[in-house]
Amino acid sequence: MAETPVPSGAVLVLGGTTEGYALAAALHRAGVPVVSSFAGRTQSPREPEGALRVGGFGGVAGLARYLGDTGTALIVDATHPFASRMGWNADGAARETGVPLLRLERPEWVPAEGDRWDAVPDWETAADLLERDARCVFLALGRQELDPFARLDGVRFVIRSVDRPDPMPPFREAEILLARGPFDLAGETALLQDHGIDTIVCKNSGGEATRAKLLAARDLGVRVVMRQRPQRPQTPRVGTVAEALDWIRQNGPFGL
Ligand code: NAP
Repeated sequence: MAETPVPSGAVLVLGGTTEGYALAAALHRAGVPVVSSFAGRTQSPREPEGALRVGGFGGVAGLARYLGDTGTALIVDATHPFASRMGWNADGAARETGVPLLRLERPEWVPAEGDRWDAVPDWETAADLLERDARCVFLALGRQELDPFARLDGVRFVIRSVDRPDPMPPFREAEILLARGPFDLAGETALLQDHGIDTIVCKNSGGEATRAKLLAARDLGVRVVMRQRPQRPQTPRVGTVAEALDWIRQNGPFGL
């Protein structure tokens, strides 16, 4: 993916998420200089509007240096709710440099009547739960998160991933479905039924793009093992792109 020249005095959007793309587009269209930053994990991500840089900064010190070098005016941490290290790094670098930091984080999913959810703090706990009584499990998680499940005997896995896991952990029985969201209710219902899924394992990402599997699970009485979100630093936080734009209007030098 091609990086583009970084304008000075821009808003740095730590992205890779639906919200990150939407915020970059809104700022770019409003004439505000914006740079999206991606970690570089996905092989061929969609290009954001505005400028783009790719790859880690090198911890808090590296990010602080980048902020100084580019004269970044403001940071929006719009990384995924489970990408917490970047959030802590952004907090550290913002404190060190005095650059204002906003967290844009989509609200969590909450269970409703008919849902059968087990909340877990990590994947090891999820794997222990599956070992007890699961037979056919839909793993809807990142390809780097599969290892703790490969040790389970007697469980058949259906794994959905954007890119092919490489290396593939040594599962006894696993089928890979390569797909990128959004996913709809009809498709998710068919997937659960066609594979005879009794348990879904996923994380509480929130948002609409991957929510349909939970609605399908509710309809079909399928259990969901849901990983809870990690802790984040105490920073100003909003849940929507519109709220982020308001905050930038009030805290940035852009005359929005
Ligand atoms: P992480 O644990 O928070 O970050 C690990 C390291 O990756 C960071 O210390 C940083 O390296 C680099 N990094 C992370 N996000 C970056 C960004 N936007 N720009 C530049 N460097 C970044 O994150 P992760 O869980 O590995 O996720 C990586 C990226 O994928 C995130 O940007 C996130 O939004 C996206 N994503 C994650 C998930 C998930 O479930 N974790 C799901 C969908 C999308 P340095 O310390 O060298 O700066």
